[in-house]
Amino acid sequence: LTPSWNIIKTELSNLEIITDPLQISKLSLDYYHFSPILNNQLQDKRGDLVVRPNNEEEVIQIAQTCVKYKIPLTVRGAGTGNYGQCIPLKGGIILDTTKMNRILSLDPGTACVETGVKMAAFDKKAREIGWELRMAPSTYRTATIGGFIAGGSGGMGSITYGQLRDRGNVQSVRVVTLEDDPCVIELRGDEVQQVTHAYGTNGIITQLEIPLAPAYPWAEIIVAFDDFMTAARFGQALSDSDGIIKKLVTIQAAPICRYLTALNDYLPDGKDCALLMVSEYDLEAFHDLVYHYQGQITYLKTAQEASKGTSLLEFTWNHTTLHARNIDPELTYLQTLYFTLEKVENFYHYFGDEVMIHLEFLKVAGKAIPAGLQLVRFTTEERLNEIIDYHEEEGAAIANPHTYILEDGGRKVIEPEQLAFKKLVDPYGLMNPGKMKAWE
Ligand code: FAD
Repeated sequence: LTPSWNIIKTELSNLEIITDPLQISKLSLDYYHFSPILNNQLQDKRGDLVVRPNNEEEVIQIAQTCVKYKIPLTVRGAGTGNYGQCIPLKGGIILDTTKMNRILSLDPGTACVETGVKMAAFDKKAREIGWELRMAPSTYRTATIGGFIAGGSGGMGSITYGQLRDRGNVQSVRVVTLEDDPCVIELRGDEVQQVTHAYGTNGIITQLEIPLAPAYPWAEIIVAFDDFMTAARFGQALSDSDGIIKKLVTIQAAPICRYLTALNDYLPDGKDCALLMVSEYDLEAFHDLVYHYQGQITYLKTAQEASKGTSLLEFTWNHTTLHARNIDPELTYLQTLYFTLEKVENFYHYFGDEVMIHLEFLKVAGKAIPAGLQLVRFTTEERLNEIIDYHEEEGAAIANPHTYILEDGGRKVIEPEQLAFKKLVDPYGLMNPGKMKAWE
C-alpha cells in the first residue's frame, strides 16, 4: 500500500524535494509534443514529487524509499527527449539528475562524469586539454550526458564515430538498482548495452566513463546548391572524403531552408543547402570539393568566430524540426536510415512537399550513409502510418518517433539483455513503468 505522500516527504526530507504543482508539471514533461500522436497520449501525465539528489548516496536513499513503498520512479536529465521518455505514465517520484554534475576525472582520450553533467559545459573543460565529446545531440547546450546515453542516439560527431550504440562509445556506467536492498553495479564494455537507450527502465545511472575525440577547430559553413540531389551527392562525397575531417554534414531541401529564418541571409530562396562543420585545417581541400559540385559558399565562420554566436548545430538534427514547428505547428517529423542516395531520390520525388527531406550523414558499420529527420505535413495518423509503411516497403528503416514504447521506436526488437537486466535490478517493475513492452 502506498503511504501518504507526507510520509514519503518526511523520509526524504534531508534531500531537495519539489512539491509545487507547477514545477512538478514542468518537470514531468519533455519535447513529446513534436509528435501529434504523443501529444494526445501524454500531455496530462504527471509525477507526484520531484527529488533532486546531489550524489550517489542520495540516489540510493531514493531507491530504498521507492522499493519500500513500491512507488514508480522516473529518472529525468534535462528533459529534452522527444518521445516522452522521461514522462511518468504512472505518477510517482521523478528523480532529477541535474545537480549530479561533477566531472570526476578528465584525461586525454577519456573522462569519468556524473550523469547530470551538461554536454557543452563538459566540452568547454575538455577543450582546455585538446579533447571533446565524440558525439552530441543538437540539444548539446542543455542535455545531460546520462540523459543522452539513456535516451538519445547520436548527433554531431556521428559522421566519424557512429552512434551511441556502437561498441566503444560508452566505456562504463555505474547504476543504482531497485532491488529490496538497492546497490550499485558497474557495467563495462559490451555490458553497458544493457542500459544504453533503455529510457531509464532498468537502473539509475549515476556515473559514466566516456571516450573522447581530439578537438579540432571546427569551421562552420553553409553551401548552397541549385538542386537537391546535387546537394545530397555533395553531402555523400564530403562524408566519404577521409582526408577532410568533419563533424556535421547536414543537407536541407529548399522548402526547409525557409523555416530557418535566423539564417535567411545565407540560405538563398529556392536553393538546397548544406550546413557543415569542417576542420579549419582541411578548408583548402574542402573548397576544391565545393567547386567540383558547383556549390556556392554563403557562410563561413572560423571556429573562433563561430564560438561567439549560435552554432549552426542548432539548425540541424532535431533543431530543424523545432524551428519549423515554431512557424508551422502542423509539421511533424520522421527519423529514417535511407542507406543510399537512390532511396533518398525516390522518396524526394514520391512525396514532394508532404515529406521535406532533411539529411544527416552518419557512420553505420564503418560506412557513411544518409539518414533523415524529414519534416512531414501532418494530416491524420492513418496517413502518417502510410508514409512510414511506404518508407519501409522501399527499404528504408524508420525509427518511429511517434511512440513512447522502447521497442516500437528505434530498435524495433526487444533487447533480451535489457529485459534480463531489468528482471535483475528492478524486480518490482518500478522504473519508468509502461515504457518497456517486453516487461509489461
Ligand atoms: P532526458 O530527456 O531527461 O532523458 C532521456 C531518457 O533517459 C529518459 O528516458 C530518462 O528517464 C533517461 N535517463 C536520464 N538520465 C538517466 C539516468 N541517470 N539513469 C537512467 N536513465 C536516465 N537526440 C539525439 O540523439 N540527437 C539529436 O541530435 C537530438 N536533437 C534534438 C533536438 C531537439 C530540439 C530536441 C527537443 C531533442 C533532440 N534530441 C536529440 C533528443 C534529446 O535532446 C537528446 O537525446 C538528449 O541527449 C537527452 O538528454 P536529456 O538530459 O534531456 O535526457
